[in-house]
Amino acid sequence: MSTAAPSTTYVLRGARPLGGEPVDLVLADGAIVEIAAPGPAAAADREGAVVVDAAGLVALPGLVDLHTHLREPGREDAETIESGTRAAAAGGFTAVHAMANTTPVADTAGVVEQVWRLGRDAGWADVHPVGAVSVGLAGQQLAELGAMADSAARVRVFSDDGKCVDDPILMRRALEYVKAFDGVVAQHAQEPRLTEGAQMNEGVVSAELGLAGWPAVAEEAIIARDVLLAEHVGSRLHVCHLSTAGSVEIVRWAKGRGIDVTAEVTPHHLILTDDLARGYDPTFKVNPPLRTAADVEAVRAGLADGTIDIVATDHAPHPVEDKDCEWAAAAFGMTGLETALSVVQETMVDTGRMTWADVARVLSANPARIGRIDDGPTAQGRPLEVGEPANVVLVDPAARRVVDGAQQVTASVNTPFRGRVLPGRVVATFLRGRPTVLDGTPVVREGAQA
Ligand SMILES: [Zn+2]
Repeated sequence: MSTAAPSTTYVLRGARPLGGEPVDLVLADGAIVEIAAPGPAAAADREGAVVVDAAGLVALPGLVDLHTHLREPGREDAETIESGTRAAAAGGFTAVHAMANTTPVADTAGVVEQVWRLGRDAGWADVHPVGAVSVGLAGQQLAELGAMADSAARVRVFSDDGKCVDDPILMRRALEYVKAFDGVVAQHAQEPRLTEGAQMNEGVVSAELGLAGWPAVAEEAIIARDVLLAEHVGSRLHVCHLSTAGSVEIVRWAKGRGIDVTAEVTPHHLILTDDLARGYDPTFKVNPPLRTAADVEAVRAGLADGTIDIVATDHAPHPVEDKDCEWAAAAFGMTGLETALSVVQETMVDTGRMTWADVARVLSANPARIGRIDDGPTAQGRPLEVGEPANVVLVDPAARRVVDGAQQVTASVNTPFRGRVLPGRVVATFLRGRPTVLDGTPVVREGAQA
């Protein structure tokens, strides 16, 4: 796979690791080889090195998304592994976990290996397939978890995301099974009977609009059940896209009790509320739904105090025809890879609730650890230190941009931030020392298929 030619050395001059003092970060042969005081005195000025002016830019470890929908195989009209991972690189990500709700479903070693290989060949970011918990996401029969774990894709995260594993005995068996290979079950917590026909958050706005409600209790009841199951079985549980104040309380209680649970929040649940449904614009239709301002405040507080471990995008691209219709008929979901870091900056950093070091924790180190990809030759989520893999993103925190769906890299345009001004801009992304993005633009590899 590797080429014989020596890799280019990059000097990221004047970058501020985790927002700290400026340094020269030197990347060579896939690793961070030197961190020096900035300036030409550094050994940085080695022959043939490419110097990137990183003055004023924050350097973060490459971001890791635990929850991405890449749509391939099956819905290449919405996104492909190539376009989705290119969008990921543009957003500062060096690794993504690809959800299993494709066609066919990623419920066998064959499908997860196919996804993993397509990701590797595209080369924009490491693709770690998530394996389905149940055959066909049907919630009836446990999928071949062991075969997926043993495959070349080395699956460690299992989820029926899009659907809830609502059968408690199936959930128990999955939690028991994944213990053998240190896997984790990532639950889309949605009690199906309580959410039949649901269109948006159940509350004042849904009553006013006459849309069927998706009550907070439908999420909280499943999370409460699952943390107790995880405790009973002694296994690892991950809660996908937690969205309510009550869910934060339950996870906080479970962690206090010593239960091995982790939780994620999406960028959109950190910033948007169910008021947006008033315009009946299906761009804002998502599952779980946008909640209330009180819920937004609770998930921000939970992320700041560590109750919520990570931000995960739930990037859910849809073709225009699945979104450009009446609310009730529209698909659930919104894109997120290219705006996640900006939303976290706006809601958590610029508000003083988190530092850039915290951002690295919730968008890189923690998701890599939960997905068990923080070790080995393709380790992700590692600190910016000499000897570590050169997975680095450079961010200009002073930049401001107007989000334009059509200008995004993803193949779909269903961003909820269209027309909105967001802070921060990803200037460069390096995957094991090779730039996937430079000057804010994806860099096509030499010799890569167009
Ligand atoms: Zn989900």
